[in-house]
Order: sequence, then C-alpha cells, then structure tokens
Amino acid sequence: MKVVLPDSSELELPDGATGLDAARAIGPRLAEQAILLRSNGHVQDLRLPLEEGQQIQILTTRDKDDPDALYVLRHSAAHLLAEAVRRLYPGTKIAIGPPVENGFYYDFEFPEPIGEDALERIEEEIRHELSEGRSWERREVSADEAKRFFAEQGEDYKVELVDTAEGPISFYTQGDFTDLCRGPHLQDSGPIKALKLTSLAGAYWRGDEHNTQLTRIYGTAFFSQDDLDTYLEQLEEARRRDHRRLGVQLDLFHLSEHSPGSPFWHPRGMVIWNVLEDLRRRENARRGYSEVKTPLLYDIETYITSGHYENYEENMFFVEGHEDEKRLALKPMNCPGHMLLFGSRLRSYRDLPLRYAESSTLHRDERGGTLHGLLRVKHITQDDAHVFVTEEQIQPEIDAMIEFASDLYDLFGVKPRAELSTRPEKRLGTDEQWDHAEAALEQALRRHEMEYVVSPGEGTFYGPKIDLHMTDALGRSWQMGTIQLDYQMPMRFGLTYMGSDNEEHHPVVIHRALLGSLERFIGILVEHFGGAFPLWLAPVQIRVVPVGEGHREGAATVAQELRAAGLRVELDERDETVGKRIRDAEVEKVPYVVVYGDRESRESLAVRERGGAQSTKTLDQLRDELLATLSAWQAGADRSSPPEQRSGEVQPTGDEVQ
Ligand SMILES: [Zn+2]
Ligand SMILES: [Zn+2]
Repeated sequence: MKVVLPDSSELELPDGATGLDAARAIGPRLAEQAILLRSNGHVQDLRLPLEEGQQIQILTTRDKDDPDALYVLRHSAAHLLAEAVRRLYPGTKIAIGPPVENGFYYDFEFPEPIGEDALERIEEEIRHELSEGRSWERREVSADEAKRFFAEQGEDYKVELVDTAEGPISFYTQGDFTDLCRGPHLQDSGPIKALKLTSLAGAYWRGDEHNTQLTRIYGTAFFSQDDLDTYLEQLEEARRRDHRRLGVQLDLFHLSEHSPGSPFWHPRGMVIWNVLEDLRRRENARRGYSEVKTPLLYDIETYITSGHYENYEENMFFVEGHEDEKRLALKPMNCPGHMLLFGSRLRSYRDLPLRYAESSTLHRDERGGTLHGLLRVKHITQDDAHVFVTEEQIQPEIDAMIEFASDLYDLFGVKPRAELSTRPEKRLGTDEQWDHAEAALEQALRRHEMEYVVSPGEGTFYGPKIDLHMTDALGRSWQMGTIQLDYQMPMRFGLTYMGSDNEEHHPVVIHRALLGSLERFIGILVEHFGGAFPLWLAPVQIRVVPVGEGHREGAATVAQELRAAGLRVELDERDETVGKRIRDAEVEKVPYVVVYGDRESRESLAVRERGGAQSTKTLDQLRDELLATLSAWQAGADRSSPPEQRSGEVQPTGDEVQ
C-alpha cells in the first residue's frame, strides 16, 4: 500500500503498516524521534495501522512548539502523574487526565485530602519514573474486559467511563500502570525533558456539582528545560499583571461579597470606563449607529417570545413586583428591548439598515465558581448594538462591522482573529436558514481576508456567529467582540418592514458587540498594559509633587494650568517625603510626575517620565508635548474612516418613543 508524505511524494509500505513503520521506512533516526502522526489535521497514534492513500506527517521531538506535539507530550505526562499518585497514595481512585492549554491535569479521589505541599513529593516520584524511563504499550480490549479490569481495582470512575465510551476501547500501559485511554501517546517518556506540577484545585466529577468533588492536580511539561523556564517566567509576569492585583494597586475597582460578581468602580477606574464609553459613543455615531436606552426589566412573555426563557433561563435573575402580579426578569441581553423598539412603529425598507446601540447594564447569573475578577461578572455592560437589515444588506453590513472592529482594536495595538461558530445541536430555525446564515458570515470573512477558524456546533441557538479574539502582550488569547446573524428573533417578535415591492418582509438582525463586556475589556487592558496605560487611557496623566509647604502654591498653579488644557492632573500634597510620593506615583504607574521645589518655576519644571527618563521643561513645553501625543492618538482614531453611506439608507428620526 501507499501513503502520501507532506512533500506529496508516495511511500510504499506493506499492508497493515503503522505510522511507526512509515517512520522506520523513511529513516531510523526519524523513527527514534517520532512522537505522533498527523493526518489531515487529525492526530493519530504511531502504533495504529495506516490506510491506503492516507496523507501523513510525522511529528518528532524537534516539533517542540507544535501544539499537537506538546499535546501528546503533556497527555503522556498526565499518565505519569497518575502512576505516581497511585503508588504514593494507595487507595486513590483516578478519574480523567487530559492535556489542556499550556499543560495537563488529572482528577483524583484521594482517601485523605492532600495539600499543595504534596505536589513536590509527587513531582519527585514522576522524576524518578522519568529517570527509569517508561514506554507506552497500546492494546484494544472489549468493554467487558475493560470494566472487569477496573472493577477489580476499585476504579469506579474508569468503570463509568467505559460505559459511556464510544468507539473501540483501548488501554495504554506504562510500567505497572494501565489507563483507559483513546490516545495518542508518545512511544516512551524520553522526550519529556521538563515537568512541573503547578497547582491543586477542586473539581466535580464530570463537572457536575451534585457529584463527588475530586482533587485536580495541574501540571505542565515541555521538550526542554529552557521552554519550561520561559513558561514559568511568563506565568510570574501574568501574576504581576493580574488585573485583580493591579486593580487594588492602581485604585481602579474592588469586588465585595455584598454584591458578588459586580465591581465597585473607584474614581480612577471610572476615568478609564468613561474614556472607553466616549470612544464607543463617538465611533458608533460616526458609523451611523443611533444610541437608544431600553428598560432593564421585562415580563416573562417577552423572554418567551425572544427564546431566552427557554434557552437562557438558568442564567437569568427574576424579580417579583409588589403591585402587579406579573413576574419580571432583568435583561441578560439587550436584544428583546431592541426588538420591541423596532416593532413600536411601522418600518419601511428606507429605514434599513437601522442600527441601535446601547451600553446598558445586563445581569447574568454566572455561578460563583466561574466568577473571576472583571473577566467573568454577573453585572455586564456591553458596547452592544442590534442592526436590522434586509437580506441584501447582510454582506455589506457585516463587512463594515469587521472593518469597524479592526479599526477599533488597532487603537489598542491589537490584531483580531476571527472564529466562525456554526449551528449548535439546540437551536431554532430550519436547516435552510442556517445554511444561508453561515454562508453569509463566512463569505464576509473571506472577502475581508481576515484570519479565521471554524468552530462547528458553537453557534448560539438563534444563529451562527463570528467571535473576534485578540492576543495580549503575554501572548494570551482573549475573546472580545461578537457578530451574530439572526433570522429568528425578528420573526418571533413578528417584526416586519414594508419592502419596495409594497410587501411586508421580516428584517434580519445582527447582534454585535466589539469591545465585548466593558468590565472584562478593562480587565484585559489592565493585564495587557500591565497597568502602565498609554497616556490617552491613563486615569491620572500627570501628578504634581510640591517639595515643601512653601511650594504648594506654585505646584497648584502648574496643576491648574495643565488641568485647564484638558489633562488629567493630580496634586499630591500629602505630608510624605518627596521620595515616597514619587515612588507611589511609580507604583500607580502615572505616566508623568512633576516635582516642584525651590529651583522650579513655570519656566523650568523637573519632569519624570514613567520608565525613568528625566528632563527639565517649561510648563508650555510639557503641556504642548502631552497634547501632541494625545492628538496623534486622536488622529489615528480619526483615520479609521466610517463606511460610506449606502443609498437608500435613512437614519432613524429618533421618535420611536411612544
Ligand atoms: Zn491517555
Ligand atoms: Zn443581541
């Protein structure tokens, strides 16, 4: 039989040959270094037979940064972890141990709880396994045999996993440890050159809080010690940049058990919030969006109509009123309000595209365990919009949105990547509508030449979507905006417009948020900039520090003049030493500090920049320089031109209010 290599050449092999046989046929060195086989984007264990005409790529230890190579390495490391734990803690039951982004974990039910200090001992045991060396043997077994095997060892979780397993059941054995596993795995433990157990956490069996709580041990592994060291440094940097920590240090916000998952914004945090709000409002206006405000509370009928009651009820907050008997719920999204607004009067094709923007507060009952600082909150403020369009306007409108997103992200120095999510199992609408909607989004992405991946089954219940992701300064990926096409909701609300053919048609609605949740976006920005915000975003742009009592008046005049120019200035008159006040400004990452003493005057100011540069400037110079920096940024924002107004496009007159 023949298989096809990456350079399109063919390799002749005996029938039934495995990936490892293919590697051997190419060269003994390759066979030695081989760790995994990749075929049309799928990974395959080297021990499995190949098929006639199969395209194959053999990954080796040299592919040390390849996600699939790291994945198989870490998956194998997870098995070593399970082996070590079983040896050190007899009576421990093992559950599952998959590789995850940046590492792996394994869930255990320990007879006695263990603490963080146990990790070192377990790691030592794994190191011992690595020094002895382990190789993996794969064997297919029947479900009965697998269940018997694990039942005899009291491994209840494994027995349950066999019951729900799909496809052939296989065992992987290393040393005296056998695990139920689909694979793939390394040939042996040789390539695992560096391993670290990183943390402990609680995790429910199958993620269900009604089940037993297990102990999850997280770890990571690499092909070299250098790679592990680099990774650990990045982790440390991420810890330093953690927005919850910087949020306190920079006095931006705090969270309190009195309102779980809802940040309290401090004055400085609110400055950032308002800068983003102004940006949102300005950019929306330039691109033909109209700002609206719709209620927070709606009756249940509205959510039944929108589909939220059926599909999102478990995340909604319900409210009982005193007077009327109607049960109300806080909106988790703006869509129902915008549907009612559209339906509040007759619409013509001349009104479309009709673009409603609103950044009101939304409430979603995210469960306690999933809350995380600003990144996952119960109290969400999106830069939301709903755009009502005709079928023909879908493509240009989505094009314009993608352009809007790129321009906006550009201002923060980040490039977006798109993810196209297609129909989920639980959904509204016919297959034909989904075909059409998915094609529309994909074509827009192609035409815009935006880098994208497809995530099958990840769409919302009402339509497919494009999620926009950014990579931050630490190389981490974050979801930001979303663009969701929806044929369903306008129909459910009975919305129509009068077409040029004098017939009634249903509009299509596009749900879109670009920064996403402002809370989350600020959390991401804090970490992306490590708290050292660019001048335009910094809550305090300049801090003026008078040296002594006698310098307060002069310093106050300087602060006042800079403030009058529109700059955000603070005067630090505390009875602390000058050194202490300068250090505090550094800790708070204030971009400019002006120290005002005997030698200073309007004509000669001592200016310290964040990062250490020091200079002497006149007040006029300092003010003009800062204003120039800000207007350069503003010019960049202005350059991102709004889409051309299309013919037939009439802006709403704003008299929707009844
Ligand atoms: Zn495995
Ligand atoms: Zn929506």
